[in-house]
Amino acid sequence: MKNKIFKDKKIVIASHNKGKIKEIRNLLEPLEIDVLSAGDFDLDEPIENGSSFEENALIKSSYVSTTVGIPSLSDDSGICFSDLQNQPGIYSARWAGANKNFKLAMCKINNSIKKIKEPNYNCFFVCALSLCWPDGSHVTVSGKIYGKFSWPPKGNYGFGYDPIFKPLEHDKTFGEMVPKFKHSISHRALAFRKLIDICFPSLKT
Ligand code: IMP
Repeated sequence: MKNKIFKDKKIVIASHNKGKIKEIRNLLEPLEIDVLSAGDFDLDEPIENGSSFEENALIKSSYVSTTVGIPSLSDDSGICFSDLQNQPGIYSARWAGANKNFKLAMCKINNSIKKIKEPNYNCFFVCALSLCWPDGSHVTVSGKIYGKFSWPPKGNYGFGYDPIFKPLEHDKTFGEMVPKFKHSISHRALAFRKLIDICFPSLKT
């Protein structure tokens, strides 16, 4: 769907990832609506078997919105390294294993890039956001931020792969940036701007 204005008073974030829920809550704050998350409903996680970030985002938002009868917003995101044929991509969470060990996932990336003869270290984060209503209508958008792989991991802010991602034209990793600043430039912020244009036009600045 190209446009649908959000007029509801409640939204459910279709995620169990604490880092993402926190970031999305911050980004939704100006809307002054009731923001719930999948955990509030004791929902399972649907199988993410899409072949793109957008498809996986829609799988999550449509599962939650049709199950609980409230519009749902999902985020499917990840990091892609040019030296690794854009891996881990949609498998970014899975590279950290069942224990969500991102130190291990970052080491795996470093070890793989070390084997490349002339690495370019180019990478990008992608965020697809899908807002789906209980009737199945949805708006799905995405944002991308380009950067360089940075080793060793630096910074204690953020989550996931933040400590090894240095956005272009910045000398700090996402992990070293205060959250407010990261939220103003990130892939998620870019996707949010698109979603606001389409679904929340009253919030446009
Ligand atoms: P999924 O979208 O739940 O499949 O998981 C995406 C994974 O990508 C997360 O678990 C994070 O590891 C990673 N990721 C996505 N966005 C970010 C970010 O802003 N910073 C760091 N890691 C991220």
